[in-house]
Amino acid sequence: MADFETPELREYPIIPKLKEGVMAHSKPYVAKVQFQEALGFPGELVDNWEEKALEKLDDLRGRYRSLQVYLDSCVKCGACTDKCHYYLGTSDPKNMPVARQDLLRQVYRRYRTFAGKYFPRLVGAKDLTRDVLDDWYSYFHQCSQCRRCSVFCPYGIDTAEISMAAREIMDTIGVGQKYCNEIIGKAATIGNNLGLPEPALADTLEGLEEEVEEDTGVPVKFPLDQKGSEILLVTPSADFFAEPHVDGLIGYAKVFHEAGVSWTMSSYASEAANFGMFIGSYENMRSLSLRIRKAAEDLGVKRIVFGECGHAWRVAYSFLNTLAGPFDFLDPNYPVPQHICEFTYDLIQKDKLKFDKSENDHMTLTFHDSCNVARASRMGDKAGGQFDIPRAIIRAACNNFVDMPADAIGEATFCCGGGGGLLTDDLMELRVKGAQPRMEAYKRVVEDNGVTNVAAICAICKSQFTKVLPYYGFGMTDIVSVHQLVSEALVLSDAPSDDNDSDTEAEA
Ligand code: SF4
Ligand code: SF4
Repeated sequence: MADFETPELREYPIIPKLKEGVMAHSKPYVAKVQFQEALGFPGELVDNWEEKALEKLDDLRGRYRSLQVYLDSCVKCGACTDKCHYYLGTSDPKNMPVARQDLLRQVYRRYRTFAGKYFPRLVGAKDLTRDVLDDWYSYFHQCSQCRRCSVFCPYGIDTAEISMAAREIMDTIGVGQKYCNEIIGKAATIGNNLGLPEPALADTLEGLEEEVEEDTGVPVKFPLDQKGSEILLVTPSADFFAEPHVDGLIGYAKVFHEAGVSWTMSSYASEAANFGMFIGSYENMRSLSLRIRKAAEDLGVKRIVFGECGHAWRVAYSFLNTLAGPFDFLDPNYPVPQHICEFTYDLIQKDKLKFDKSENDHMTLTFHDSCNVARASRMGDKAGGQFDIPRAIIRAACNNFVDMPADAIGEATFCCGGGGGLLTDDLMELRVKGAQPRMEAYKRVVEDNGVTNVAAICAICKSQFTKVLPYYGFGMTDIVSVHQLVSEALVLSDAPSDDNDSDTEAEA
């Protein structure tokens, strides 16, 4: 299947022995000139790149107080060293969070601290050389910005922010990552990561309407660009065609149908994902967020609901109001924005959805908490809502649910291995190895509790699981969308009854 070895799944996690430099070769393709320039970055490495990199570092330290604090406050206690899935799966010591941070910190110390300028070796300070830049490119693209390490750091140092800063510095000197920067360009010009134009999107949604009506006998709508709708749904573009994502989209449509609300998607803002976050670029994150605002204004909606996408929810929940607010033209009676899980959960609480759970009886489910939802956002109005609400929805739609071990869920959840802009085939070895801790936890419930499927609410997690599950001996279809479970079990109140069916058959 590949020219690397898939790590073994052990019964209990073991901290691996160090294998220095084993992942130094792992680097994503560099973005071409046109993709760099389209985002306002130099096309290739600039001549005075060392000077420019330090200037950018200063700019970011000035802009983000947190970055300055993180660079100064690590006491090398070691609490984070075994918390990164990429270290656990690859054994490369530079994938220990503290070592990853030090790649940037050593340069900061060398040029911007007294001790680093005069006693560099004493404080681990290093010159910014081409070798250091190569290490940056390699190891800052082996961080999925999942923030697991920050949960265990006594100082709350967030390696994700350091990785974002390092990627932004690299973009600024002309060394961007192909996968992210190409995608940001497409979303900024066409409206979605796939570069799917309006006619293709309209055609896809029409096809889904026909499929669902054939399946249920109910004319469930998938509206596009419907002015005056109450709700704008912004969802990851993978929901339009990929499995199991599209089954989730069918679930949202059925929920909206059952709720009796008018809703629409937008061809102008047909993407929830915001890869601007992965490269740490405030400007790119903002330009993508402004498309959503414009779509909401142009369509005259009252509410914005986000579909199942982990990092999109982080950007929406944590930054949307800052990036593109104020959203004072929306209905103040609803959260801005709202997650589709919050929307569905609210209906469940009000007893407005009826489920036939037996439709999902062929599965025993577990739930994968996606990093950006778990550690960088929230749902509902209670602490921990981001953990409880998706589980409550699964339990409402399914009879059989078992959680994975406590040290691999909730706030301590392990990344799927493909987050943070790493979901590209040129990083397949990293993705497979980084998935090991999640796969180990999954294996436990498969063997001990007969779990057959894992549900998720993140487009990246779903795509990553589809790819990596088979490397570990599981089926690629083990991964399901949470709203796919909703879709299967939801009883549509205007569905033709069995009696009607037999009448029709008899008449025919
Ligand atoms: S943020 Fe996640 S991927 Fe990055 S170093 Fe920390 S644990 Fe590893
Ligand atoms: S846990 Fe925090 S303080 Fe300790 S080594 Fe890691 S980053 Fe540094």
